Amino acid sequence: MRNEQGLQTVAVHAGETPDPATGASAPPIHMSSTFCVDAPAGFSAHDLGPDSPYLYARWSNPTVDMLEGKIAALDGAEACLATASGMAAASAILFTFLSAGDHVVVSDVSYAGVAELARDTLPRMGIEVSLVDLSDPANLANAMRENTKLVHAESPVNPITRLTDLAAVAKIAHAGGALLSCDCTFASPIGQRAIELGVDLVMHSATKYIGGHGDALGGTVSGRADLIKRMRIEAGIHHGGIMSPFNAWLIARGAATLPLRMRAHQEGALKVAEWLEAQAGVTRVLYPGLASHPQHELAKRQMKNTSGMIAFQVGDAARGRALAERMIEKLEMVHYAVSLGHHRSLIFWMDTAGLLASSFRLEGVQAEAYRTFAGDGIFRLSIGLEDAEDIIADLARVLG
Ligand SMILES: *Cc1c(COP(=O)(O)O)cnc(C)c1O
Repeated sequence: MRNEQGLQTVAVHAGETPDPATGASAPPIHMSSTFCVDAPAGFSAHDLGPDSPYLYARWSNPTVDMLEGKIAALDGAEACLATASGMAAASAILFTFLSAGDHVVVSDVSYAGVAELARDTLPRMGIEVSLVDLSDPANLANAMRENTKLVHAESPVNPITRLTDLAAVAKIAHAGGALLSCDCTFASPIGQRAIELGVDLVMHSATKYIGGHGDALGGTVSGRADLIKRMRIEAGIHHGGIMSPFNAWLIARGAATLPLRMRAHQEGALKVAEWLEAQAGVTRVLYPGLASHPQHELAKRQMKNTSGMIAFQVGDAARGRALAERMIEKLEMVHYAVSLGHHRSLIFWMDTAGLLASSFRLEGVQAEAYRTFAGDGIFRLSIGLEDAEDIIADLARVLG
């Protein structure tokens, strides 16, 4: 007897049922912003309960509910909140669980938007922020304080693919009475089972792998039902950064093929990463699925799929910039553009000096630790679903 469905089945069916009104097999898009109720109802966010009817689309909407059910099931969590973007998901976590006087530990390298929010906005709100290299759990143990309420990790970290041992940092965060959130965008729900590893709040930019087609912005946070309810009231209903039903529909349509796509992204990435490693002009390739990745053993232990994100170096910053210019001019298929996780391959040059000065603002050992992975700069390459041989042929045009 199978007790639990496999992830491919979950991706296709979770959250969905044939439409009771019409029998439609594909989920309908309910664009309605308001709903006719059959009894007088309270209009406070605090009146929201599990049996509340649909009232107003900032509270809940059937199409967004459908996506939330699917992502909660894929993450293996009790509940999920869908948000307007990945940044809205990160803000939802930070501004629901932190207040003035609290302390938060944030990974010293993270998605640039989260990095800047942690450095600029949180201190302005009276929140104490420690920026910590979480790839060594001992650093977290040293950073914990009496008032640490939240630890925010990211694994693999954008853009350098550095990993955090999530089970180890979960133990330390929980021993100190803090929640652990992790931005799992690079891994997707298929790449690592973050809830099983002890993460309380799993966030994804659904704009990336979950949606998978580069046509809709969105974010998700999954976790225990009580935590998600607090976020729904504060971040969803009060701050208002909810996902539109149309985007929920597009992202759910993408999510149905997520397990299949992740397998193809991983297969393509491994082939391209191995090819890159053999190129004379490439000085370093970072891909968790390669034996040469400094944390390959942790990747094997923690990740079920090493995804399609590769970082590689070509020498000093001048060489990187020149190659970026050549790519913009000469690449015929791979798009020179930000974002990741799409069916189209995307590449972007990220200069270390610029990033350290603008987003990360790291010095001393932390800056050195970043340079250990990134050198003077990296190309962040998101392997799409094209044939690996064609991606390689396009890259050979500029690297050969
Ligand atoms: C893109 C990204 C985000 C932000 O997501 P948006 O949907 O663009 O707001 C957050 N974290 C990571 C790791 C990302 O790659």
